This record gives sequence, structure tokens and C-alpha cells, in this order.
Amino acid sequence: MENCVFCKIVNKEIPKEMVFEDEEIAAFEDIHPIAPVHILIIPKKHILTVDDLSEEDTELIGKMILVAQKLARKLKTSDNGYKLLFRVKRWGGQEVNHIHLHLIGGAKLKEEIRPA
Ligand code: AMP
Repeated sequence: MENCVFCKIVNKEIPKEMVFEDEEIAAFEDIHPIAPVHILIIPKKHILTVDDLSEEDTELIGKMILVAQKLARKLKTSDNGYKLLFRVKRWGGQEVNHIHLHLIGGAKLKEEIRPA
């Protein structure tokens, strides 16, 4: 947790402009965007991966998806559409071990998910 980059962003140890923030959730631009819109929506609570979620997180995950929906509308990518992505653990390509939902849009996106 001490070395978690997203916890440091939540705790303001790493300054970051938030595109959304409330008591439970924060959202900010991905540092290496892969599309015109690329936002990360994270819970403030440190949860490692989707595989570590429990029943008590049901509402939190639902809220994260609704934050993504609202940001997509605000950033004008909801009419044409977008992708929401959770990477999970090594084979899923997860690099930061603090759950994050990618909101990716602003352009037509390729479908490139296939085995390496
Ligand atoms: P994932 O591969 O799904 O774990 O995605 C991690 C994402 O976090 C990558 O898209 C990174 O570009 C992004 N990222 C890592 N560090 C930062 C940071 N300090 N600020 C914003 N985005 C970051």
C-alpha cells in the first residue's frame, strides 16, 4: 500500500488533476493515453485486483461504472461509444495493483484482444 502509485495519488503525495473525485472514487487522465479520451477511475480504497473484490464492494464497483458513464458524456464520447476495461493480474496485463477502470474513447477503437 505504501508503494502504491494510485494510493499516493489519492493521498495527494503525487499531485494529479482530478477529472472527478468524491469520498470513495477518484478519476484522472492516464499518463500514457492510448486514445483522445483515456481516463482511469479508481476506488480510494486499496483493492489489488478484480479477483480480490468481495460482496461488500458491489456498490463501489457500480459507482465506478456510473462515474465512467458520466465522464464519457461530459467528454462527448458517449454518443459514438467507448470501451471500459479492467485488466486483471499478469495474463490480463495489469501493471498497477490497485483496481482501475479504463475509460477509453474519443475515436473509433480497434478490437485487439487475443492470446499473445
Ligand atoms: P493497467 O495496465 O491496466 O494496470 O494500467 C495501468 C495504467 O496506469 C497504464 O495505462 C499507465 O499509463 C497508468 N499510469 C501509471 N502511473 C500513472 C500515473 N502516475 N498517473 C496516471 N496514470 C498512470
